[in-house]
Amino acid sequence: MSDCIFCKIAGGEIPTDFVYRDEDVVVFRDVAPQAPTHLLVIPRCHVASSAEVKDSAVWGALMGAAVKVALSLGLEKDGYRMVINTGEGSGQTVPHLHIHLLSGRNFGWPPG
Ligand code: C5P
Repeated sequence: MSDCIFCKIAGGEIPTDFVYRDEDVVVFRDVAPQAPTHLLVIPRCHVASSAEVKDSAVWGALMGAAVKVALSLGLEKDGYRMVINTGEGSGQTVPHLHIHLLSGRNFGWPPG
């Protein structure tokens, strides 16, 4: 989608230091980190939110990449959290599906 910021990141239009890339998924650091490690895991194809996923293969690619990156960084040692905001009420601000992968501090429950 031409005016989507995450499509521009995934497509290389906005220079980005990628933590991980494959043919379906890219992973990069959040510009406003909420934890010592705060990564965004996004599909290359434009999907507005989790509610809009039509092809379940998207989930396999996204979750597979998220866990692969988490393990490659050793995040499981202290624990990590994955968050998917869906819709305005949840706090979603960028309408391109993304998993927040957070680690490096203690997280409260229930989430805010
Ligand atoms: O779940 P939500 O839609 O609010 O998350 C969007 C995330 O994208 C925010 O954490 C924001 O800091 C991040 N972001 C970014 N780079 C941009 C625009 C937003 O890392 N250029």
